[in-house]
Amino acid sequence: MGTESFIMAIDQGTTSSRCILFDHSGKIRSMAQKEFTQYYPRSGWVEHDPKEIWSSQLSVAKEAMESAGVSADDIKAIGITNQRETTIVWDRKTGEPIYNAIVWQCRRTADIINKMIEDGWGAKIKERTGLVPDAYFSGSKITWILDNVDGAREKAERGELAFGTVDTWLMWNLTKGKVYATDYTNASRTMLFDIHKLEWDREIMDYLKIPESILPEVKPSGFMYGYTEAEVLGGSIPIAGAAGDQQAALFGQCCFSVGDVKNTYGTGSFILMNTGDEAVKSGNGLLTTIAAGCQEDKVEYALEGSVFVAGASIQWLRDSMHMIDSASESQKFAESVNDTSGVYIVPSFTGLGAPYWNQDARGVVVGLTRGCTKEHFIRATLESIAYQTGDVIHAMEEDAGEKLKVLKVDGGASANDFLMQFQADIVGTKVCRPECIETTALGAAYLAGLTTGYWNDKEEIIAHRVSEQVFEPDMEEGERNALLKGWKKAVKCALVWAEELL
Ligand code: ADP
Repeated sequence: MGTESFIMAIDQGTTSSRCILFDHSGKIRSMAQKEFTQYYPRSGWVEHDPKEIWSSQLSVAKEAMESAGVSADDIKAIGITNQRETTIVWDRKTGEPIYNAIVWQCRRTADIINKMIEDGWGAKIKERTGLVPDAYFSGSKITWILDNVDGAREKAERGELAFGTVDTWLMWNLTKGKVYATDYTNASRTMLFDIHKLEWDREIMDYLKIPESILPEVKPSGFMYGYTEAEVLGGSIPIAGAAGDQQAALFGQCCFSVGDVKNTYGTGSFILMNTGDEAVKSGNGLLTTIAAGCQEDKVEYALEGSVFVAGASIQWLRDSMHMIDSASESQKFAESVNDTSGVYIVPSFTGLGAPYWNQDARGVVVGLTRGCTKEHFIRATLESIAYQTGDVIHAMEEDAGEKLKVLKVDGGASANDFLMQFQADIVGTKVCRPECIETTALGAAYLAGLTTGYWNDKEEIIAHRVSEQVFEPDMEEGERNALLKGWKKAVKCALVWAEELL
């Protein structure tokens, strides 16, 4: 064993499995990543192979250890973070999945959800789970598997099956079936968990015909779950943390206090606000969810809002419009003009989320004049990411009754300085970008490190955030209001477009 020890973060995402080893100062020692297969068996259906999820994850873990030259003894603990809501059901005896993983994006259970809404479950689901009934969450996906895989329901009734989100599946495999558990944050995305009582909700389970024997134990995100079996990674390593990706990012950004907000600018954008002990009920269509923590019987909550198309609009400029060769090039074009020449783009390709909630809305470009150039178009697309984020933040401020002090950012598109400055300008708040934008993995590492005493307390962790870039708002209020007014008009156009003409 070397003199230095590390925390291993297992970061199991929607398109790739990654593993990062962090040292005591929170710096990355080594990292490995592997993409895996996406299956689209029908339109709107998305699946992963659970065994490929596990094998890719295991191989990157070994690779990260090898490239850092460390053995299991040098790893103080493992923290897991994962794509949320994705549903796996397996045989407890053999460990074999009985069906592919049904991925969070998969819409196959929309009918089950529509029926649920017709049957009047909307208010109850919101009250107990903090969510709105939707096919994204795990609940209806379990129902589908039990209804559609031969013999599954009978096996489940006999207690022979196990359901898990990806954290649970990984823990089961790391411990060779010794640990069957999930954490509060992952449980809070199943639409089966009462986020106030902190227990599985029997009434919802009964409605969805899900037996209790199929559900894992629920523990805090920072918790000693168990130990890896020696044969897996060459030694017995404590598994001491687990959290869904967005909650892990909130923790990794050190959003430990009430009112702290982070936004992850990826394909979509996920904005979460820590609301402390209070499960704030949104009047603006935001979700109420459990934040990651290390306490046994008490949790903290978060408000969550998402933007469906964020960085994806830049991919669209690159791959479909052929206006740029790389995502990062968008910055140069946007900065080459002073404004958008009055053009607004609303990239509501798949409808609009919070606070508008209209699934029929489609994208619009408005305000075109003969003077509009490609540069204006690119700038308007980047600005749309900031406007949409601003709309969610505004909804959060209303729900929480508090003005945002600082926005902490991460994710691929947060590398864009133009976007970050415009974001600061348009919400009138400073935007902080940490040096390490791997905040999701860092959050999982923090949870595991705090639980095992690798780090003493949150203060020690906060001290790691030494170098971060700050974007200060620098726009006159008059200009901001005028721009926002234009954006609201553009959104209205996207909504009107969704209406049928009588
Ligand atoms: P995900 O985890 O959702 O795959 P990432 O955090 O890896 O996303 O970010 C990738 C997204 O960020 C892509 O949609 C890409 O278009 C966008 N992106 C990456 N770099 C930039 C940049 N410099 N400017 C704007 N968008 C960017």
